[in-house]
Amino acid sequence: DPYLRERLHDFNDLARRLLHHLVGRSTGDDLESQPDDMILIAREMGPAELLDYDRSKLQGLVLEGGSVTTHVAIVARALDIPVVGRAEDALDKVENLDPIVVDGDNAQVFIRPSEEVLDSYSDMISARAQRIAAYASLRDVPAETKDGVHVNLDMNAGLVIDVSQLAATGADGIGLYRTEIPFMDSTSFPDVDRQTEIYGQILDGADGKPVIFRTLDIGGDKGLPYWDNGREENPAMGWRAIRIALDRPGLMKDQLRAMIRAAAGRDLSVMFPMISEIPEFDRARKLLDQELERAGGKGQTLPAQIRVGSMLEVPALLYQLPALLSRVDFVSVGSNDLFQFLFASDRGSPKLADRYDTLAPPVLAMLRHLVETCDAAGKTVSLCGEMAGRPLDAMVLVGLGFRRLSMTPSSIGPVKAMIRSLSVNDLSQYLHGLEGLAEHSLREKLREFAVDHGVMI
Ligand code: PEP
Ligand code: MG
Repeated sequence: DPYLRERLHDFNDLARRLLHHLVGRSTGDDLESQPDDMILIAREMGPAELLDYDRSKLQGLVLEGGSVTTHVAIVARALDIPVVGRAEDALDKVENLDPIVVDGDNAQVFIRPSEEVLDSYSDMISARAQRIAAYASLRDVPAETKDGVHVNLDMNAGLVIDVSQLAATGADGIGLYRTEIPFMDSTSFPDVDRQTEIYGQILDGADGKPVIFRTLDIGGDKGLPYWDNGREENPAMGWRAIRIALDRPGLMKDQLRAMIRAAAGRDLSVMFPMISEIPEFDRARKLLDQELERAGGKGQTLPAQIRVGSMLEVPALLYQLPALLSRVDFVSVGSNDLFQFLFASDRGSPKLADRYDTLAPPVLAMLRHLVETCDAAGKTVSLCGEMAGRPLDAMVLVGLGFRRLSMTPSSIGPVKAMIRSLSVNDLSQYLHGLEGLAEHSLREKLREFAVDHGVMI
């Protein structure tokens, strides 16, 4: 029955709440009763569910499934919550109230740790605090290599509180604002007024630094608790992002309207996710132009300048670059999705998490072609997937010609330290020699290069 099928989501939600009550645990609505210093252990979890928990109390997240590029892990990292995925049988091994150490840096979980483990973690935490202080001292120095190449370091953001990290890290701007995060953190679709308020707060907080607003990328593993978009065999390749926006233009119009209002008199950069073909970009752009015209017609103050870009996440777009680049002001590589589609390797599958490497010859060849084509067309290219925040991967991106990267705020310091210890000249020559190799991964060779050349990775 189609009616009952639609109600299934409500039943599931009711069932979840009922179970929470039966086991005497708090639901997401009941933040006060959540214990202090909690570590959450789950089989699987969506990013929206994570946002149900009190962030000031949640100290760690352990998932039996998952990988580093699943959205729940990305959101946890943005909130500075250590997360470990692929912890098989964790739920069977842990009892409520067990003390646990979650080491997100080294993907380790210690249940009921011994005194020795606790001591060594106390030492590690102090050493980490010193490293963070050292990165903080880099805040105001430029991200410039030893041979004088400047790299723009932006940060990714999703929640209004993230914006404070701009000043704390010295990031140049927000290279990716994931607008779906406030949608996931809400109990119903935020209306135009609410969205205007959120986008305005982001622009106020950025205080003149550039912000790129990406339109809604829901679907895939980013569900909304209050919206059932149906079940699909392959949600990552299904009805998500721009595909939903073009089929339900009302959603995107509301978003664009709110962005235009929020950016009155200021610069506005809009980016469309999951573009697979040029007509999709054209249709999205047309909606933006219509909203600008509407706002102008009503006498609203328009943004001072509009820049429009596309995410590059679908391999087909790589073969439409001339047409794309003649239309956009900038492109940003979503390496999390691009990589999963390039290798046909689900970004959330724990079994595939180590199967293929971002530092493999085909990835390097693809990215070099992309950067060279964008440079030749005079269009800005950036990369905003998780790869940009890992110092060794970021080193390679700079060696390939990327001069703009966007990453989780806590990566700005380590990536800047890497850049300041690097000579790009040596590296680009070395990379040319590696790309033809028929190897699974170039990671070890590149790590050796970094160590031999004193690059801080
Ligand atoms: C990406 O795919 O690399 C990206 C930045 O988008 P998201 O992780 O939100 O899918
Ligand atoms: Mg993506």
